[in-house]
Amino acid sequence: MAYVISDECISCGACEAECPVSAISAGDGKYVIDEGTCISCGACAGVCPVGAPSEK
Ligand code: SF4
Ligand code: SF4
Repeated sequence: MAYVISDECISCGACEAECPVSAISAGDGKYVIDEGTCISCGACAGVCPVGAPSEK
């Protein structure tokens, strides 16, 4: 299981610093989560201002 970031992402970058395993990086137009690295802790969803990250 992993979290995914929807197209609602406004690329604020807040989630990147919160991820304990550095699974989040800036992508093309939005931030992206590396599925193989994500441990589904939910921290990114907790800080996102637009609710873009959700569990897949
Ligand atoms: Fe990182 Fe946790 Fe978000 Fe996965 S759910 S991308 S481990 S902050
Ligand atoms: Fe995108 Fe939300 Fe992460 Fe900001 S916190 S970069 S809006 S997913």
